[in-house]
Amino acid sequence: MPTISVGILGATGMVGQQFIALLANHPWFKVEWLGASQRSEGKAYRDAAAWRLSSALPDDVARRTVEAAAPGRAPTLVFSGLDSSVAGEIETAFAEAGHIIVSNSRNHRMEPNVPLLIPEINADHLALLERQGAGGWKGRIVTNPNCAVVVMAMALAPLRQFGLKTTMITTLQAISGAGYPGVASWDILANVIPYIGGGEEDKVETEAKKILGSLSNGAVTLHPVLVSATTTRVPVHNGHTGSIAVGLEQKPPLEAIIDAWQSFRGRPQELGLPSAPPQPIVYLPEANRPQPSLDVDRDGGMTVSVGRLRRCPVLDIKFVALGHNTIRGAAGAAILNAELMQQEGLL
Ligand code: NAP
Repeated sequence: MPTISVGILGATGMVGQQFIALLANHPWFKVEWLGASQRSEGKAYRDAAAWRLSSALPDDVARRTVEAAAPGRAPTLVFSGLDSSVAGEIETAFAEAGHIIVSNSRNHRMEPNVPLLIPEINADHLALLERQGAGGWKGRIVTNPNCAVVVMAMALAPLRQFGLKTTMITTLQAISGAGYPGVASWDILANVIPYIGGGEEDKVETEAKKILGSLSNGAVTLHPVLVSATTTRVPVHNGHTGSIAVGLEQKPPLEAIIDAWQSFRGRPQELGLPSAPPQPIVYLPEANRPQPSLDVDRDGGMTVSVGRLRRCPVLDIKFVALGHNTIRGAAGAAILNAELMQQEGLL
């Protein structure tokens, strides 16, 4: 397959850095353009970004000049890790100019014509792209969910067969989820902050309904599951954990639920996409797992780990789920979306 040039909007941020790291040796995509704010514009990437990852910054990217976040010189396919205060307008401008934007930001996620994708769950929602042209865009926008939603939606998707009714989630979210420099060390060290701004709980309560929803007549019908969320920030580098209780119409044995998670596969596994984990949900039987420090990097950070399944005296079952917020919940998710689009002939 010929190499496909890609650009990154918000290239200097936490998510932008993960894009660069994950694309360094990608078999299809090559980073040829970087965009960020006026603070970074005109600087070599190595001088503009505070590199925060343990993998080395690739030399060609380090030397590349960061450009203004404006359409024109970027390749057709552009990943976006833009701050949500500016992502709405900038991504729209790129789509109007004919770019295909694969975005992490919240701004376009709930628009009826924009796919909100987790390729293992709702690859068919890409059909919404056909309707975007009517809005005057020459290009397209595809989004991935909020980083806490990815973990929860992955764990819930295989439970739909048992009549998924209600869920209550309390998250324990890593500091990398707040960008860099993010939360002040004074605030987060040896502490738990029981609030995450930017409408985090609202995102958890709404986005999963779209992802788990069904597509008919070119539109998504939201899944009826009722979601109640409490989101907290904890002093963990990477990995969002969720303590999740679920109400089901049926009362399957716990073994059937574990089997549903372990056997869950989707379009990325079918197509053998380069970023697809072989088993997207892994159930860990140990009593004290999953843990961010032990489990977050499983299969390059693309696998969701689940454990501690037990009966819930209030709803029906409860368990703990964990996923890598800047990989499965952000850059890795967007790259998987673009790989799916490529294989489906949409790039
Ligand atoms: P971040 O570290 O704060 O990075 C934000 C990026 O946006 C930087 O590259 C910044 O460029 C750029 N930017 C800010 N203002 C701009 C402007 N006026 N014009 C152009 N570019 C501008 O944030 P992040 O954690 O990477 O998150 C990026 C996006 O992904 C957000 O929408 C976030 O909600 C979403 N997201 C994050 C995570 C996560 O776990 N971190 C997960 C899922 C989704 P400069 O460096 O030049 O300022």
